Amino acid sequence: MQVYLANPRGFCAGVIMAVEVVDQLLALNEDVRPIFVYHEIVHNRHIVERFESQGVVFVDGLAEVPNGATVVFSAHGVSPAIRDAAKARNLRAIDATCPLVTKVHMEAIRYAAAGYQILLIGHPGHDEVVGTVGEVEDQGADVIQVVATPDDIAELVIRDATRLVYLTQTTLSLNDADVVISALKKRFPRIKAPPSDDICYATTNLQQGVTVMAAMCDLVIVVGSQNSSNSKRLTEIAEAVGTPAYLVDDASEIAGDWFVGVERVLLTSGASAPEDLVRGVLEWLINEQRATIQQVDVFDETIEFGLPNGLKDLMRAQGMDTNIRGTVINQGEMIERWLAELGGAPAGGAPVRLTVSASGVDGQF
Ligand code: SF4
Repeated sequence: MQVYLANPRGFCAGVIMAVEVVDQLLALNEDVRPIFVYHEIVHNRHIVERFESQGVVFVDGLAEVPNGATVVFSAHGVSPAIRDAAKARNLRAIDATCPLVTKVHMEAIRYAAAGYQILLIGHPGHDEVVGTVGEVEDQGADVIQVVATPDDIAELVIRDATRLVYLTQTTLSLNDADVVISALKKRFPRIKAPPSDDICYATTNLQQGVTVMAAMCDLVIVVGSQNSSNSKRLTEIAEAVGTPAYLVDDASEIAGDWFVGVERVLLTSGASAPEDLVRGVLEWLINEQRATIQQVDVFDETIEFGLPNGLKDLMRAQGMDTNIRGTVINQGEMIERWLAELGGAPAGGAPVRLTVSASGVDGQF
């Protein structure tokens, strides 16, 4: 059996930054302890459990955080009400919101100030959607309304169809978002689009990669947690091109009977899934299914986000280098080395390159 390992996969720049924030706080002296994190720092069970084992406390409300303590806001962002509550409680707040989520918050603020009603395409109740809505909801119940599917359009309260804009959650399925956007444009022909795509580069690259690669495989395995929006979308995208797909937190969730009659497996991971879990799945496939591994490069990613200023101040005060990075971005060469160390010659040769563009896909495996 051949396993095709997707590049890029796993940690995006926002997740790397958010995980790094908690890692660096843990490296500081006792003054910042205990460390509280408002909501899961990223939507991955293993990351949360690993931080919990180091004493980090995850909370669903600021009432659980003692006055004056350190609290981290997760990569998904928070509303101003939460930021204000933290200030009022004299909490030391470190904001690990992904800058690409902040961009959507800023768009909401700007359009609401300009008198637009905002239709936010996203999953109601998702942390990111709650944070974006919270930026402007105090200006009236109809200033921002969440649209999950085209069916929601009939329920919208619209004051002036010429002063409408749509924004989107950053981790939506490109196809699902397009369906809602088309329906909105049909119903409100003068609706404005955001100045640039809100669905982020990492979501876009992961989804486009899976769309083309899943069609060339018999089975897709996505490493990620069930509450990870972008991970779930990857399995849905694979299924939409007709390839069965499973979302697993780690190798323990794989079942041998998935592989009956399967020759080509695509392995990828959601933006919040750590690379060691992908290696665990690879090891399982090599040991249990005698798989050989072929890397497939689709997009090169070089985006990095700096640490939040509040954290940098704390690090400088303790003489720490604020430029250090503990999390490695790309895995290509590391996987090759790891496979070589693993022995048994499971690597299938040099990585295959696929080029995805508006005109189609160049390359195959
Ligand atoms: S998935 Fe996109 S928006 Fe979300 S944390 Fe990663 S880079 Fe940021």
